[in-house]
Amino acid sequence: MEHLRKKVCMIGDYAVGKTSLVSRYVNDTFSEKYLTTVGVTINTKTVMLAEGRKVTLVLWDIAGDDELSALAVAYLRGAAGYVLVVDGTRKTTLEAARRLQVAVAERLQNPPFVALFNKDDLLPDWEISMDSIADLRRQGWATVVTSARTGHGVEEAFRALARRLGESV
Ligand code: GDP
Ligand code: MG
Repeated sequence: MEHLRKKVCMIGDYAVGKTSLVSRYVNDTFSEKYLTTVGVTINTKTVMLAEGRKVTLVLWDIAGDDELSALAVAYLRGAAGYVLVVDGTRKTTLEAARRLQVAVAERLQNPPFVALFNKDDLLPDWEISMDSIADLRRQGWATVVTSARTGHGVEEAFRALARRLGESV
């Protein structure tokens, strides 16, 4: 059976939950502490697809706290797809995500991505409306509302991307 390995970059503004989402997905853990990533951390997880196929996601997570580091050439090189993360409690992180999406799509020739609207457990504090997420979906974004804290939507989100990466061969 074919077994694919696909590089996936975690993309998004400072403190949106990129590292927390990977750690929930890969290790099923969550930490309240700010998880400082030094440089780039790489985690892998294998996802079973239909008909016995599987894809190993090689998840790249960068520490840099600005948009420039997320766009670093060495970080993005060879990525088959990306996870774009927004913090629902901060509207500015959606603006950052829109800019990053345009820049990454251009750099990587429009690979599949999934947009995670994270911190669903803090819904009363959200600055982003479900309507604006629905608008993005109409524009063709794959969106999933997640919480790295509770795990809500996390498996589904990475799986959705894995499925698309498994198709694109
Ligand atoms: P990164 O800079 O994008 O990697 O963000 P981190 O994963 O380090 O998370 C930044 C902060 O947000 C940390 O204090 C996390 O504990 C917290 N955090 C991340 N995801 C969630 C979530 O889904 N819910 C809540 N309540 N806090 C979260
Ligand atoms: Mg991080």
